[in-house]
Amino acid sequence: MNPTDLLQKAADGIRLTPAEGLELYQHADPNRLMEIAHDLRLRKTEPGVVTYLVDRNINYTNACTTDCQFCSFYRVPGHPEVYVQSKRQIGERVEELLAWGGTRILMQGGHNPDLRIEWYEDMLRFLKSTYPEIELDCFSPSEIENIAGLEGLSMEQVLARLNRAGLDGLPGGGAEILDDAVRARIAPKKTKTAAWLHAMRIAQRLGMVTSATMVIGFDETWEQRVASLTRLRELQDESLAAHGNGFTAFIMWTAQLSHTNSLGRSRHRANYGADYDEYLHTNAFARIYLDNFTNFQASWPTQGLDTARRALFAGANDFGSTMLEENVVSQASAFTEQEPRMSVHRLHEQIRQAGFTPAQRDSRYNTVRRFDRVMTAAELAPVSIPTRLNGVEEPAANFLPMASL
Ligand code: SF4
Repeated sequence: MNPTDLLQKAADGIRLTPAEGLELYQHADPNRLMEIAHDLRLRKTEPGVVTYLVDRNINYTNACTTDCQFCSFYRVPGHPEVYVQSKRQIGERVEELLAWGGTRILMQGGHNPDLRIEWYEDMLRFLKSTYPEIELDCFSPSEIENIAGLEGLSMEQVLARLNRAGLDGLPGGGAEILDDAVRARIAPKKTKTAAWLHAMRIAQRLGMVTSATMVIGFDETWEQRVASLTRLRELQDESLAAHGNGFTAFIMWTAQLSHTNSLGRSRHRANYGADYDEYLHTNAFARIYLDNFTNFQASWPTQGLDTARRALFAGANDFGSTMLEENVVSQASAFTEQEPRMSVHRLHEQIRQAGFTPAQRDSRYNTVRRFDRVMTAAELAPVSIPTRLNGVEEPAANFLPMASL
């Protein structure tokens, strides 16, 4: 098919084959792709509205044995800076989130060999019983695989137990590029493609909230990016047909390299990373190619606010979240090193500057509140709430083996 016909097919919302997708991605004018992506977004989601989530990331431990080459966050077990957060520490963060009107926590950490499955179950039960209104979207396929390996359980058994303990969703972290040749180069000890997809398949079957992600800039080929998206599209087809619970959203960003991670220090550094134009181009292509996804998030923590606003015209309909705390990406990201959190008022300003009405949502993209009127910073400021942590004691030390918790 010639490029003009392919563009028409894309504009008509007709599914592209992988070969057609590759052709369009590589050879079509990126500005035309952004126009088509924006038009598809206007047709698939409420046109004048950009949604966002009030949530916070909680990085419960930084101990990790997986040594991903792009990671600046982890510390090897035994390192003096290793920590595991306590119930009180995590509870205090949840209460700060509640004060902001937040609805979800995203709890992620390293692959800590000293935490057993009972630690995770205990923490989830504590959080669910203390803060029943907060959605618990926690861990990632690689953390689930790590727990399964440590316990001698299947990922299905681990997810079912954590789900029973209160886990509402499994975020899509750790997908990077779903191609084992790329994964072997940048994160050889981490979950392989089939296992990442399988964890998501199980989580979706269990009725959990899941998201799909992609990170570009690992010196992957165009073909590998398209293959990664094809795998997400296939699983989405499978899950929607089987039970109707697929990925709620697609989120992509560019590899964050810093002098503290191996890729950032590599003598091949020039081969890594991707610029903002490539981000917008790929986001637009993904909106076209992933025809069975509804929601696409702009990633301000990695791309900065200007690019995130431009992404709202390149297929994205959601501005992500307030990220009241984030440590994994931000330790290698120039933007969030300067501005690690975003107030709700500032987030509204960004959405309005782009010409849309802000609407707070939950993690299933149900609208919590739509803001037709411009709100002042005081109206959107956090409120004081009583603590629910009376009687929850702080453990004696920051790093505690499982037996002490
Ligand atoms: S990205 Fe995650 S799994 Fe990889 S080293 Fe960092 S903390 Fe560990």
